[in-house]
Amino acid sequence: MKVLLHEMSWTEAKEYFAKNDIALLPVGSNEQHGPQNPLGTDHLIAKAIAEETAKRTGVLCLQVIPFGISPHHKQFWGTISISPKIFKQYMKEGCLSLNYYGVKKIVIVNGHGGNLNALSELARELREKKIFASIFQWWPAASKLLPDFFKPEERRHASAEETSVNLALYPNIVTMDKAADETVHESTLQSEGVTLPLDTADYTGSGVFGKSSTASIEKGKVVLEAIVSELVKHVNILKKAKIEDLMQKPKV
Ligand SMILES: [Zn+2]
Repeated sequence: MKVLLHEMSWTEAKEYFAKNDIALLPVGSNEQHGPQNPLGTDHLIAKAIAEETAKRTGVLCLQVIPFGISPHHKQFWGTISISPKIFKQYMKEGCLSLNYYGVKKIVIVNGHGGNLNALSELARELREKKIFASIFQWWPAASKLLPDFFKPEERRHASAEETSVNLALYPNIVTMDKAADETVHESTLQSEGVTLPLDTADYTGSGVFGKSSTASIEKGKVVLEAIVSELVKHVNILKKAKIEDLMQKPKV
């Protein structure tokens, strides 16, 4: 049975939608991930875990949305950024298209933390329209496991943790001999509770936050399997959930 929307014909899609009200929608970004990782890292990881979950659960998976909200990476060449308003609207119209065919449950598999605020707003707006969208992100999903595998300096943007997952999925497009290790230049303006409008270029010259040279394909594979099992678990629970139970409660 096909599970990828872009591989189905419209008649096959019709058959799926006649029997199912759930779909997976991966999204990421196209932004710098240090000299060793591809620009597509965030959307390529989201695509891989969503597609693998689709195979294991029989739930339809859409094409990955490759561009996200990445203005903070713009000084690094090749980063493509979409404004939050347009991004949210684009995602919304994709979800509404699914809803036209009867989809009421959408699992958004987000590979880029910078998209989260817009996606959370979107999920609330969709619930108003009786569509229940959950957002899955791999790094919190594996949060119990990750500290056993990676030190704190290996766990930030483009460092060993993310590079390892990439290596496990796409070994041919990760260039480990270019892997950078860089101590993050913390801002003197930074105090507890303060959010600053700084860019990645304010913190690092290579684009890597911390250490990436210790990335390993073996660690990446273990982490990846843990992530996919979490997502499979979530999709199976949502699949069985009654739509009435997912909708907003009436006034008290
Ligand atoms: Zn990333």
